[in-house]
Amino acid sequence: MSLTFGIIKPDAVAAGNAGKILALIEANGFKLRAVRMTKLAKDEAEGFYAVHQGKPFFEGLVEFMTSGPCILLCLEKENAFAEWRKLMGATNPANADEGTIRKLFAESIGKNAAHGSDSEENAAIELAWFFRAYELA
Ligand code: ATP
Ligand code: MG
Repeated sequence: MSLTFGIIKPDAVAAGNAGKILALIEANGFKLRAVRMTKLAKDEAEGFYAVHQGKPFFEGLVEFMTSGPCILLCLEKENAFAEWRKLMGATNPANADEGTIRKLFAESIGKNAAHGSDSEENAAIELAWFFRAYELA
């Protein structure tokens, strides 16, 4: 079993889709290991998405991610990061497969309902960024 990090983004929380997304996660065989609702501070969002600094969408991304509450997730499953990316669907909902979270709940490439770590290494880094060790024990 492995762990990955996810976020139910502010658009999905604001639209009242958080519960449906949590239900989909469980229905797809993930175990919820940690869940926390928070509102990201600007420096948290900037640090988290530092890899995108300088890109044309960076400022809008930080503004969106700090626009309202989101839900931080630690998910457990075999091959967790890849399985969670698969359930989320493509970054742009226009390209997302049927039944994926982004197909069902995202409105645009910017407001795309969910985040998922893109490697096992980044999952460990992102989990450590947002959760205390005792929350994942
Ligand atoms: P995430 O990291 O949020 O899980 P991702 O890995 O599918 O998404 P990235 O390339 O890491 O995609 O982009 C991070 C986020 O930046 C995207 O989820 C999206 O919200 C935003 N983003 C990426 N590309 C664009 C774009 N061209 N225009 C607007 N927003 C974008
Ligand atoms: Mg990414």
